[in-house]
Amino acid sequence: MAATKSALNAKELTDLKKRLLEEREELLSQLKTIEEAVFSASQSDLTGESDDESADAGTATFERERDLSIENNVRDLLRKVDSALDRIGKKTYGICVRCGKAIEKSRIKALPYADLCIKDAQAESRPR
Ligand SMILES: [Zn+2]
Repeated sequence: MAATKSALNAKELTDLKKRLLEEREELLSQLKTIEEAVFSASQSDLTGESDDESADAGTATFERERDLSIENNVRDLLRKVDSALDRIGKKTYGICVRCGKAIEKSRIKALPYADLCIKDAQAESRPR
């Protein structure tokens, strides 16, 4: 188990860690924007007493659901980024969590938070 090493050298690891940290910042700021939008939407619902706003209620609900689904995606991505940073700390970054082999370098560069090798990622995305 401990024998497996990722295909990444120290410099690549540093670069990827930097990218992950930047990605994390970006996701956190996106999350903040979404939360503010959701919050202000719910605020205007509470205070929106005039009748002419009821026509917009359906649209507002749709927009809130869309915001929430974007929020879920962002949170999901954030979890992956955090977990990748955690794996860097534990020196298991770049290693497939499923089969324990090194994740392809091209894959990890395209997707720094990837935790599965190409083969396992494909198996994962296939409907069961
Ligand atoms: Zn694998």
